[in-house]
Amino acid sequence: MSTKQAAHYPKPIYMDHAATTPCDPRVVEAMLPYFTEHFGNPGSRNHKMGWDAEAGVDLAREQVAKLIGADEKEVIFTSGATEGNNLAIKGAAYLYEKAPAGSGQPRGHIITGTIEHKAVLDPCKRLQKEGFDVSFLQAPPDGVYTAAMVLAAIRPDTILVSIMWANNEIGTINEIREIGKVCKERGIIFHVDGTQWVGKMPTDVNKDNIDLLTFSGHKMYGPKGVGAMYVRRRGPRVRLQALQDGGGQERGFRSGTLNVTGIVGLGKACEIAMQEMEHDAMRLAKLRKKLEDGLTSRLDSSAVNGHKDKRLPHIANISFGFVEGEGLMMAIKEIACSSGSACTSASLEPSYVLKGLGVGDELAHSSLRLSLGRWTTEAEVDFAIEKIVQGVSKLREMSPLYDMYKEGIDISKIEWAHH
Ligand SMILES: *Cc1c(COP(=O)(O)O)cnc(C)c1O
Repeated sequence: MSTKQAAHYPKPIYMDHAATTPCDPRVVEAMLPYFTEHFGNPGSRNHKMGWDAEAGVDLAREQVAKLIGADEKEVIFTSGATEGNNLAIKGAAYLYEKAPAGSGQPRGHIITGTIEHKAVLDPCKRLQKEGFDVSFLQAPPDGVYTAAMVLAAIRPDTILVSIMWANNEIGTINEIREIGKVCKERGIIFHVDGTQWVGKMPTDVNKDNIDLLTFSGHKMYGPKGVGAMYVRRRGPRVRLQALQDGGGQERGFRSGTLNVTGIVGLGKACEIAMQEMEHDAMRLAKLRKKLEDGLTSRLDSSAVNGHKDKRLPHIANISFGFVEGEGLMMAIKEIACSSGSACTSASLEPSYVLKGLGVGDELAHSSLRLSLGRWTTEAEVDFAIEKIVQGVSKLREMSPLYDMYKEGIDISKIEWAHH
């Protein structure tokens, strides 16, 4: 939508927290002094402005480390999860490769999944073009990757496994600790895209057997354009090839002047998450259950996508049969959420994540991802249920297919004129 249209558009209720979250006002407050007062470059070692900025970064590093059970020295600041994933995956692949590029020998094997975020899939595809072997593990219908699936794909030349903690479209939670154990026992580096998990759910990089963990400020009530990455220093000490050359900041892993305001904000967001995530998670799990039960009990031919229980508390992904995707989005304009369609250059493509679970194209298009957040109220959930029930019912009233379905005609057996 253009900004001109947006100006005349009533403000919808926000149920798209998996796309981004608003900044917590306490985060903004913590950041403000670092724009004007403590504006120094933390790399400036000779004056107070530099030291003050450095102190802000140091505190943030502690706050981040504490949230994930790491040592401060193991935290690298990045611009977000996309950069972190690129650095983790390519950086590890280049450093641990079995044979150099151009040698004609296989460079090494990497394991990931088909329903990972593009910021994992695309670096893996690039490595594939560059001579690495990549196994993209097919998702099971419930969307949950198990240790057994990863174990079955491991080869003697496997150097890296990259599996996300929780899926951003359907909220399913993978068997991270168990996958990590399988990797650890075999000396394989384990990277986890934790963007949807960290700050929402308890994290301990040691207990969870993780070597590289990436996440992002703006998915956890922090600012955009900042993220962090955990790089294990002990048992084993993980090394990475830097992707960016320059001033050697962040122990050489990530050159470039630090985004001090963003980093301070991310640190504060982590501190708040430490205190509030348990409460938030319990509250949101109840609201999500209310939302899912409300919709699926009142609308037949609707189904929740992904594993019933192994799911984040705040993400619901529901398919509605017998409605058309674009019509559905038009009918629920009062709710800001995501659909099961992705805008590509020319057309609307069904979500590759839903397709990966075996959801048909039509049903993928007519799916909604509703993701709740820290300030979502019960009244908003009630409102969303009403609006979606109304919208879907209205669209179905106009659907001859739905009529036939109601009359008991087996639609799968009908021969369509346009075939
Ligand atoms: C949002 C998201 C990303 C990308 O994060 P940015 O910080 O916006 O680059 C990567 N992975 C997952 C799972 C995400 O949800």
